Amino acid sequence: MHPTLLVLFHTLAITASHSHSNLRSTHRCVHNTLPVPTPNEQTRSTQPYPTTTTTTKSMIDGEDPTSPIKSQQQRRRLATKSNMRIHVQFSSALTASSATLDTNIKTWTQQAITYWESALKVVPVEPHLSFDLTCTLSFPFTGTTVTQCAAYALSETCSGETIPTAWLKAGRHCSTCYQSGPDSCTGCTDVAAGTGLASKDYAILVTSVDTATCQSSTETLGYASPCKYDQYNRPILGSINYCPNAMASATAAVALSTAKHELAHALGFTASMIPYFRDPTTSTLVPRTTIGSDGLAQSATKVCADGQTRTLPAPVSTTLNGPTTVRGFVNSYILTTPNIKKAAIEHFNCPSLTGIELENQPTGDSSSCWGAHWEQRILHTELMTPVVGENSVVSEFTLGFFEDTGWYESDYAKAERLYWGNKMGCSFINDKCNTGTKSNPTMQGQSKGYFCNEEHGSPYTATMTGCTHNGLSKGYCNLQTWSSNIAPNAFSYFTNAKNGGANSNLDYCPMYSGFSNGGCMDTTQQLADGSNAYGDLYGSTSKCVRSTTVQTTYVTPTIANSVCAAIVCNSAGTSATVTLKDKSGTSQSITCATNDKGVGKTMTNFNSDGQIICPDLSVYCDNGHNTFVSWYDNQTIVTTPESSNNKNDGSAPSNNSPAPSIDDGLGKEDLPAHGSGTRRTWALADFFGLMFCLVVLVL
Ligand SMILES: [Zn+2]
Repeated sequence: MHPTLLVLFHTLAITASHSHSNLRSTHRCVHNTLPVPTPNEQTRSTQPYPTTTTTTKSMIDGEDPTSPIKSQQQRRRLATKSNMRIHVQFSSALTASSATLDTNIKTWTQQAITYWESALKVVPVEPHLSFDLTCTLSFPFTGTTVTQCAAYALSETCSGETIPTAWLKAGRHCSTCYQSGPDSCTGCTDVAAGTGLASKDYAILVTSVDTATCQSSTETLGYASPCKYDQYNRPILGSINYCPNAMASATAAVALSTAKHELAHALGFTASMIPYFRDPTTSTLVPRTTIGSDGLAQSATKVCADGQTRTLPAPVSTTLNGPTTVRGFVNSYILTTPNIKKAAIEHFNCPSLTGIELENQPTGDSSSCWGAHWEQRILHTELMTPVVGENSVVSEFTLGFFEDTGWYESDYAKAERLYWGNKMGCSFINDKCNTGTKSNPTMQGQSKGYFCNEEHGSPYTATMTGCTHNGLSKGYCNLQTWSSNIAPNAFSYFTNAKNGGANSNLDYCPMYSGFSNGGCMDTTQQLADGSNAYGDLYGSTSKCVRSTTVQTTYVTPTIANSVCAAIVCNSAGTSATVTLKDKSGTSQSITCATNDKGVGKTMTNFNSDGQIICPDLSVYCDNGHNTFVSWYDNQTIVTTPESSNNKNDGSAPSNNSPAPSIDDGLGKEDLPAHGSGTRRTWALADFFGLMFCLVVLVL
């Protein structure tokens, strides 16, 4: 009897790509295709890890090895993790146009790598990281899952970038096999292994090519995704492409944030990785969502954030809850893993929160169903929202995301303080930014620099300008009139359906956005003493405060201005000295205590009927230290009662109304116009230059 010659079958994964219907044509961060490799048999490479058993680890910890494991903390310690070691490879000619930009991109990327290496720990790969060859054609054998490769990919790539052969494992391909098994194969050729990447846990390939994706939106700074995974589905290889033109015009702060943002995507902060999260409290890293024999997470048919229905690998609801209705938007998705829920409750001081919403507008790959970013309306200045700004921070939310993947342990001492929404209570999340009616808006947190309803222009009104929520800058209300009605209706807050905030990712909520020349630490804005009508004092300790204080030669304004003042806090953060410059250039100060928030105080040598409004010292005197404790280390959730003077009623403090303007006939000068005019120029044309889209390729 002749052995049966086996029929070859293709093993290369087919990656679907769908065309995408955008929610709104005005969205600036969308691109359409570019499939992302998900964890499966073709993209997974087993890595060597030290064997750690319960017994040996318990002995290391000095515990009785026979005692049962009692706490989450003990279980978590079973796998000893070390700081990540990331290998980077830049393409030979990054931009092929600018040596300076090449150098800068390398510097920003290295700084981003240094940050993530310090903030994240993993179980170390030893002795070296390496990647399987991709088998494109193989022989199956009856009664076994064993196969024999017939052909490997002509070149190994990661999102189009060639993977160096030195990083690849050994392989063997054969031309003929019979049903009896691999031993029957003939015409076989061995492929030698490369040296691998010694003592590395992750590798990143970096390019800067002006691709069609970059050209599709001039505001796209870059994109990134993982492409190879270990046996636990932890990303071990990824790629970043920086859009050269956008990066060349970005400020250094935005460029560095971009590098950190893109590397985070490549490390697994992606929509498609959420179904593959593991539970770090289990010694074998049990998947949070069941993974089938095909290596894929269980599929479900979902109504997605864009309203389309898709069937795709989907996480269980204890990881990602959705679609669900939040603030009238019916297709929200909420990440509900332990650290995210804990961080949400503590940050917003809202015990009923179950997690944090992912971006509900398309900012990723076409076949995505939920966002690859935090919802910008909720965590506006966090690094992993879709639009980055000058003051983006890596908070406990992004570090919590990484820890809740099960692959990483996060060092929260490396987290920065996020002020957006800080202690704003449940209404900040659950209610729309306008809690009033469309014809009579009441904007949430208006007195604290959050949401507003008056487009900047002339004549000026009390709510047209303000201080940004973090106090760093004088700001303007970014309400604008769009070319078409804002949709869906859940994002329409005003009688004129075309009115909404300039950043669509904030669900069109208008907010106080910093003037391009309004940063209070920018000493180049300091006016000469003779023309410093409002007494601005720019400097490293300066922040924006509301004020009707002006030099004595001017008439007291009828509306409060925003002014930059030096703020020096006591060590306890309970008292601050607020200093302006009088008309002779001499410093004049008042003192604000915690309980003075919203109280007006008069300053010597300025107009006697003007007032400085004392700021919120919980923001203005915060030491910037992040005290978040991982849920896995301490499951106690810390919230503080909302004090009476911390209500989020959206109204201005009562003392914010200045005394009436009185012209006493003594020949006082007219004040320079606030927000425009020759004496004080706002760079209004730069408004949109403050925002850059970070577009990610991933699902
Ligand atoms: Zn992104």
